[in-house]
Amino acid sequence: MSYESLNKTPCYICEEELLENNLKLLNYVQQESGAKIILALKGFAMWSTFELVSKYLKGCTSSGLHEARLAREEFCKFNPHAEVHTYSPAFKDEDIEEIAKISDHIVFNSPNQLFKYKDSVKKINPHAEFSLRINPEVSSSPKDIYNPCGIYSRLGTTLANFDEEVLKHIDGLNFHALCEQNVDALEEVLVAFEEKFSKYFKGLKYINFGGGHHITKKGYDVEKLIRLVKEFKAKYNVDVYLEPGEAVGWKTGVLVSTVLDVFHNGMNVAILDTSAEAHMPDTLAMPYRADVRGSGEAGEKKYTYRFGGNTCLAGDIMGDYSFDEPLKIGDRIIFEDQIHYTFVKNTTFNGIALPSLAILRKDGTLDVVKEFGYEAYRNRLS
Ligand SMILES: *Cc1c(COP(=O)(O)O)cnc(C)c1O
Repeated sequence: MSYESLNKTPCYICEEELLENNLKLLNYVQQESGAKIILALKGFAMWSTFELVSKYLKGCTSSGLHEARLAREEFCKFNPHAEVHTYSPAFKDEDIEEIAKISDHIVFNSPNQLFKYKDSVKKINPHAEFSLRINPEVSSSPKDIYNPCGIYSRLGTTLANFDEEVLKHIDGLNFHALCEQNVDALEEVLVAFEEKFSKYFKGLKYINFGGGHHITKKGYDVEKLIRLVKEFKAKYNVDVYLEPGEAVGWKTGVLVSTVLDVFHNGMNVAILDTSAEAHMPDTLAMPYRADVRGSGEAGEKKYTYRFGGNTCLAGDIMGDYSFDEPLKIGDRIIFEDQIHYTFVKNTTFNGIALPSLAILRKDGTLDVVKEFGYEAYRNRLS
């Protein structure tokens, strides 16, 4: 495949065919297990792909008013039956009316929040279904920053904080306890969740298993997930939702950047027209080292470079990479797998330009669907 027609960098390129492959696998899970799968916008919100995404997934899960609006306006226009699920650690008075209007499911984080807003929401939208997010207090999440079940967690209601009064008002329960994990981790969480909460399942319409299921990653045990969902549905006579974000955008495209300068300071340093801090934030937060096309580990190939971003943050570094040939100013550098949790988190830190967004169509055409300029920086400030 070639990105040759791209004339400006940095740019994220989402490949339609790779995205559709992920969607087809997720749809297979839906068909075989009976689960409903909705897109977590937090991880992937390139709405110009929603015509495609909405052919396969049943809706979106959003974390507040803005994501809910995007789901309603940009996803449901392709599929009026698509569902909008809205959760927030805490809803605000000023948002709740609009959220009620545009959401099919509202997921409260605590009994307090449910009691506070249940009547006003039902008045505006009598069809809205309610759920409470549970904290099963079990997670094998690889990092504390991504562990919603850690000590003093604010995310979800523990058994100790569960108020049985909520049962009169809820249609379902949610949990979200995984991060980039295989199905064995889900199984562990399910054991704890059922042990603590299955006494409350009677009369519920659905249980939402959250996200973090790495379904589209090679080696994920898809058949076991299907079995677990089927067994759970049969055992409790409920619908099951899964709401992956990462698994939708996983390995569906790249971030293309350009080498702006190369010099030697104890080692070779290359400055790129992108930024780890502003454009690849999880490389610093997780942290992880993004793969670069055609490169090796430091020292593996003949010429090793430290890649740095074009901001003034000293730690704006992507990592050390080696190549068979020396890098030249103007060379394109392609970071792999940069479509999930990247542009949804981008900042204009240091006034650095936001990368454009492009889609590589199945017929090979490259459509640049969005470019950002000075206004994107200025309009966020005053
Ligand atoms: C982040 C999040 C998701 C999606 O998680 P992924 O790891 O991207 O699959 C789903 N549900 C909730 C409540 C979340 O916070």
